[in-house]
Amino acid sequence: MSECIFCKLVKQGFEGGVIYENDNFVSFPDINQKVDGHSLVIPKKHFDTTLDMPSTLGVELLDCIKNTTLKLMKDNDAQGFNVVNNNFGVAGQVVDHVHFHILPRKKGDSRPICY
Ligand code: 5GP
Ligand code: ZN
Repeated sequence: MSECIFCKLVKQGFEGGVIYENDNFVSFPDINQKVDGHSLVIPKKHFDTTLDMPSTLGVELLDCIKNTTLKLMKDNDAQGFNVVNNNFGVAGQVVDHVHFHILPRKKGDSRPICY
């Protein structure tokens, strides 16, 4: 069976570097930038969707989302952001390792309201 691409990146390193990490989560730039700074927050351990993640990881998940977003907004001079989490193929999930898109937003950018 082929290994999950995000599990492979956790093991071997992220091509664009790490933005922020804590014990159970890590963030890194998305390879296909929908807007400047577009990044992903993932658990270091494999879970298919948000429904598979233990709720006890909630505090660390939010910590990673917030610290990643603060850095991205500063670095990209953004005034807002979207957090997008696609679950199951029918909702647009392509990589079956749960991930949260962080999209820094500024006036006049390309506006993906729904990722
Ligand atoms: P989804 O459609 O599953 O919510 O989004 C998956 C995201 O993972 C896409 O935005 C895609 O660009 C990103 N992605 C897929 N493979 C890689 C990779 O090897 N490296 C990085 N940095 N991002 C990836
Ligand atoms: Zn995985």
